[in-house]
Amino acid sequence: MYKSIIIGTGPSGLTAAIYLARANLSPLVIEGPEPGGQLTTTTEVENFPGFPNGILGPELMANMRSQAERFGAAFRSSWVVKVDLSAKPYKLTLENGEVLETETVILSTGASAKLLDIPGEKTSIGRGVSTCATCDGFFFRGKKIIVVGGGDSAMEEAHFLTRFASEVRVVHRREELRASKIMQDRARENEKIVWSLNHTPLEVLCEDRVTGLKVRNNETGEEEVLETDGLFVAIGHHPNTAFLEGQVETDEHGYILVKPGTTRTNVPGVFACGDVQDQRYRQAITAAGSGCMAALDCEKYLEGEMVHDWSHLLGEKA
Ligand code: NAP
Repeated sequence: MYKSIIIGTGPSGLTAAIYLARANLSPLVIEGPEPGGQLTTTTEVENFPGFPNGILGPELMANMRSQAERFGAAFRSSWVVKVDLSAKPYKLTLENGEVLETETVILSTGASAKLLDIPGEKTSIGRGVSTCATCDGFFFRGKKIIVVGGGDSAMEEAHFLTRFASEVRVVHRREELRASKIMQDRARENEKIVWSLNHTPLEVLCEDRVTGLKVRNNETGEEEVLETDGLFVAIGHHPNTAFLEGQVETDEHGYILVKPGTTRTNVPGVFACGDVQDQRYRQAITAAGSGCMAALDCEKYLEGEMVHDWSHLLGEKA
């Protein structure tokens, strides 16, 4: 039986692994379908403290992983399909049917890209539809691209894609962008970016490859087809919590609920950190910080001090 299993290897899971391994708790880390998490699909990370000249996302994650390994964290490439948190020891079923037993669990499975859910979209993935500019931008050298979304992700992807594309059109369903001012300004100053604001995407048109996006002008109600060679969907993320099958308390969007100021879920000995419990900040540094908190909460729990000992600090009843 393991003392602790960490599910997910983004900045939160890997930071938890570094801390638990340094505390001699020999955590097992389960690397899911996207090892390293979302940062492996970004280019330059400019805002992670300690890297004044920026660092590539994949490199940052590789560094965190080897740091955790150096202190004795074990890694397993698989994913958890089912959990049983109804009794101790907790049981995690892997995709090959193997069942692992553990005293504690740290949930750090992050969040995944949302899709528009319009006709032609899913069937065109890999044929011109993508959710990752850094993975697929290279294939669109000299081509016309559409980015859907009005948040920071859409601005970042649009800006990045101008490295390759002849033109990047941002399609957003409202007139106002949701993105922060600095990201908006950067995109607006980029001459290769053109705008279709207040337009709702209706259908992806695809023959062998994507040829266009049908949209509706929300002001006039008119429909038109915007010709394009590629479509990047950048409309946010949803938490990866389906495998929990409701055994841990979540909000209405599926994000895990933790006791404020801690990483404790409603199940004793089960902790959550990173984007899977954070709709608000969703930054690599906040994920890493909450991974550290999860490891410390877990350590206290295993020491038997239980988090109840901290409850006076949190204004809770013991
Ligand atoms: P987001 O802020 O939730 O923005 C999602 C965008 O997609 C919104 O503009 C939304 O439109 C649009 N959208 C959502 N569902 C849609 C649908 N079904 N059809 C059409 N449009 C749809 O998500 P995000 O841009 O991924 O950013 C998430 C968080 O990460 C934010 O906190 C952001 O600051 C952060 N982030 C930071 C950086 C950075 O600092 N470098 C980079 C990327 C992300 P509405 O506006 O109409 O709702």
